[in-house]
Amino acid sequence: MSFFGYKKGDMHAEGVALKTIAAQVGTPFYCYSAGALRAAMGEFNRGMKGMNASVHYALKANPSLAVIKLFAEMGAGADIVSEGEMMRALAAGVPARKIIYSGVGKKATELMAALQAGVGQINVESAAELETLNAVAGQLGKRADITIRVNPDVDARTHAKITTGKKGNKFGIDIDLARAAFAEAGKLPHLRIVGVAMHIGSQLTTLAPYAKSLKKVGKFIAQLRADGHKIDRFDVGGGLGIVYKKEKPPSIADFLAVVKKETKGLDCELSFEPGRRLVGEAGVLVSEVILVKPGASKTFVIVDAAMNDLIRPTLYEAWHDIMPVRQPRPDAATIRCDIVGPICESGDYLAQNRDLPRLSAGDLIMVRSAGAYGAAMASTYNSRPLVPEVMVDGTRFAVTRPRPSIEDMLSVERIPQWMKNGEKT
Ligand SMILES: *Cc1c(COP(=O)(O)O)cnc(C)c1O
Repeated sequence: MSFFGYKKGDMHAEGVALKTIAAQVGTPFYCYSAGALRAAMGEFNRGMKGMNASVHYALKANPSLAVIKLFAEMGAGADIVSEGEMMRALAAGVPARKIIYSGVGKKATELMAALQAGVGQINVESAAELETLNAVAGQLGKRADITIRVNPDVDARTHAKITTGKKGNKFGIDIDLARAAFAEAGKLPHLRIVGVAMHIGSQLTTLAPYAKSLKKVGKFIAQLRADGHKIDRFDVGGGLGIVYKKEKPPSIADFLAVVKKETKGLDCELSFEPGRRLVGEAGVLVSEVILVKPGASKTFVIVDAAMNDLIRPTLYEAWHDIMPVRQPRPDAATIRCDIVGPICESGDYLAQNRDLPRLSAGDLIMVRSAGAYGAAMASTYNSRPLVPEVMVDGTRFAVTRPRPSIEDMLSVERIPQWMKNGEKT
């Protein structure tokens, strides 16, 4: 079921017309469908029935408190990569023991905060981090529950910037070197090894790289056990892809079936860390056309959302579907255009070479599949306020993060006292 669709000629998120939100909130804005979020999480919950498994929502994909809370209420824990994300997860009601702390460069102060908060599992990614965590835990008189993230050296066949499980990526410890790291960890008095973690990449649209990695790491777990380590958990990471254009990502049920098959007999508790799959298709970015500029070779549709609001097109060469919010007539003629923002960068585009019905100033457009790594990666480049976020649930909607005013943005800055004194430098 799609949670976004035309009703009486106007694009709706569930029961709310996007133009209604635009009139109240202004543009651009991100809009998330609570129904779509619930549907995705529900698919995981149904598929995991009878499995010793749990979901830890990777909140870097969309760290909105309302989104985290919705998943937490459906039983999800959180996968975090910074102290800030930990504070968000806790603020949204995720119990500390259900938090997994991932990341290749955790600072000692962050590890300390995590241990003090009682975070359930820390996924260690290097020998140096083992030492630091052991020292920090020692200072606090605690023992940290850890996994070591291994890099299984498998090609996830996704975009180069989001592949993480291949030799030469900075993530995890090479599977060939990880045995020594486990031996080292086993000797450190303030660490308790609870399992093994992996995460091979993002926007995976086939299951073969998962199957291969699970097989490899499964064998490795057997070897670790033979070495005398107690391995109870297998954290298989996230990475499941979504539809942007015409991808055919596997269903969550099929994904879980492969995990079940490949981990059969391992007798491990499984953790999943989906991010994009839970939120990506549940969100859209709505923007207004500022003006239309015909060029020599193509037409530029200049809209009020830009690369600072959604960086995926320029960062990952990502393709996002663009739809007019007002339903075009079926026989409407199309023109070839680029949908671009107002920023002074040639990389500032949302879409290139699209055949769209003729748009004019004041029209609204919707950028689809923008719920993941959209608002999360936004910046204020060009002193553009962060885009507000809205959640729709049935016929209700609420602003979950308002648009800051320009005054708000300026008020956090300081002019050095010597400049205020008018001293010459
Ligand atoms: C980014 C990340 C995830 C989530 O990735 P998605 O592709 O959004 O599912 C999960 N685990 C780790 C360790 C990550 O870095």
